[in-house]
Amino acid sequence: MEQIIPFNKPFLTGKETSYIQDAVASGKISGNGKYTKLCHSFFESKYGFKKCLLTTSCTDALEMAAILINIQPGDEVIMPSYTFVSTANAFVLRGANIIFADSMNGNPNLDAESIEALITPKTKAIVPVHYAGIACDMDTIMALSSKYNLYVVEDAAQAIDSYYIGNDGVKKPLGGIGHLSAFSFHETKNIISGEGGMLVVNDAIFAQRAEIIWEKGTNRSAFFRGEVDKYGWVDVGSSFLPSEIVAAFLWAQLEHLEEIQNKRKAIWNQYWEGLQPLKEKGILKLPIIPNYATNNAHMFYVVCNSLEQRTALIEGLKNENIHAVFHYLSLHKSPFYEYKHDGRELSQSDFYSDTLVRLPMYYELQENDVKQIIQLF
Ligand SMILES: *Cc1c(COP(=O)(O)O)cnc(C)c1O
Repeated sequence: MEQIIPFNKPFLTGKETSYIQDAVASGKISGNGKYTKLCHSFFESKYGFKKCLLTTSCTDALEMAAILINIQPGDEVIMPSYTFVSTANAFVLRGANIIFADSMNGNPNLDAESIEALITPKTKAIVPVHYAGIACDMDTIMALSSKYNLYVVEDAAQAIDSYYIGNDGVKKPLGGIGHLSAFSFHETKNIISGEGGMLVVNDAIFAQRAEIIWEKGTNRSAFFRGEVDKYGWVDVGSSFLPSEIVAAFLWAQLEHLEEIQNKRKAIWNQYWEGLQPLKEKGILKLPIIPNYATNNAHMFYVVCNSLEQRTALIEGLKNENIHAVFHYLSLHKSPFYEYKHDGRELSQSDFYSDTLVRLPMYYELQENDVKQIIQLF
């Protein structure tokens, strides 16, 4: 039988299990120990994030953000319809109404120019999602945030090691621009820990409360630093922090971030160059990276001209044992939310739901595999 090329294959750097053994041998395997702190300082020093807190998932980090910005029933939160359910669910759990924005023509990210018309006195936050690790138009979004006094929570689940270049020419890491942001280390992302995530606090106003919410609503972290002489229940919260076993795995990955990124970018570029002729013939569209964005090679996708063409493409690849997959179904049309949505048509979001295909993308994907995939188009 021919070899199967999966859509994703988790890459191990080699040190994961020895760091886990070390954590276990140390006798400290609950959260916020040595490996958690190594991961926090890595992100804080490499990207200048003000405060990082590992979580058990990006979903958890988004839920923490919703608590931190005090979402109340009836508050409105603006986000793209073309996103993962957790982006919306985290705010819906606190009673928010989601106001879905459409994607851009040419890029699945939300159309920042369409946001202002959606703002009402009830609007509390904007949640841009950096799809495929490609930045949203953050200058426009941050200007709206200042003008209308809104929080910005970046869903940076896919955006590790990617940047936004502002009108001022400054290169800012994604996840470091909004008041709060959330990353994912799910096994399908660039850097993984099985399940895992991280909350980034950029506005210092949230730093102390974030730690309390993280530690089940207690001031335990302050207690361990000797800042208070006993700890107790001081706020709402939950068990958002991962064990040292997860953090040890993640640390082994972070040590190889650069190597992982370089490899993924090489694969991405091979797809990009190999598929140019098909793009030029108008058979499909390739990702467009705006001037203000960098590429972190989280994903390589193509956009077909129709649902029929996409279905045939996925089938054709599957018959050759190559697993390519479509992505989000517009959330404003989901069984859970379609009756709560305000009825606006979001045609670009629907377009990407019907036509976008993600191709296999993982560290161990060989040059010949990519060549083979391109030839099958
Ligand atoms: C992966 C992903 C999430 C969820 O991440 P988990 O760590 O699995 O909770 C949320 N939003 C986006 C855009 C994602 O890609």
